[in-house]
Amino acid sequence: KKKMVQEYKIVVLGSGGVGKSALTVQFVQGVFVEKYDPTIEDSYRKNIEVDGIQCLLEILDTAGTEQFTAMRDLYMKDGQGFVLVYSIVAKSTFTDLNDIRDQIVRVKDTDDFPSILVGNKCDFEEQRVVSKQDAQDLSSKWKSSNMEASAKTSTNIQELFLDLIRQINKKEQPNKKEVKKGGGCNLLVYNNNNTIL
Ligand code: GDP
Repeated sequence: KKKMVQEYKIVVLGSGGVGKSALTVQFVQGVFVEKYDPTIEDSYRKNIEVDGIQCLLEILDTAGTEQFTAMRDLYMKDGQGFVLVYSIVAKSTFTDLNDIRDQIVRVKDTDDFPSILVGNKCDFEEQRVVSKQDAQDLSSKWKSSNMEASAKTSTNIQELFLDLIRQINKKEQPNKKEVKKGGGCNLLVYNNNNTIL
């Protein structure tokens, strides 16, 4: 019997230091990484069952160091769901997301795409500078969902990805693909400057 899975392309975006890598690695590998090279842009794969559907997630943890906007345009065009991350203890990372979202809207030529606004580092409650209300206002303006999370304590990490997958399921029936042994592999190779080799 052939196994059917649905593939999801998820892109994690946000300013440097907000915890994109920590959040992605916590979700995929279940560990909190204290130090992660901020220039590494990596993609991760994870199998997960959501509402009885077998899902294969391909998560791109972006580094924002692309030399060519064409690169960013490409993964924004390809992405089906976007995790827009800021840190609740750094106001500028919250406002930075406006430009990032504008870019997705421009590339996709629509403002209607699955996304979730994520206020990371919620374990730093006492140092909070971005209010929950501000996040709610922004997410309703964007018609996205919104959650606070902590990669450190693993708060809402699973939940935020589930929310995004459900949004994608609602919006589009992702292409059903058969899993072929050793087939259908796309490989992009980058050097240290993130130029394609
Ligand atoms: P990125 O540049 O957005 O990928 O950010 P990183 O994942 O490299 O995280 C930046 C720093 O913040 C690292 O020192 C992480 O250990 C730390 N960090 C990430 N997420 C959290 C969190 O939820 N809580 C706390 N306290 N620290 C975090």
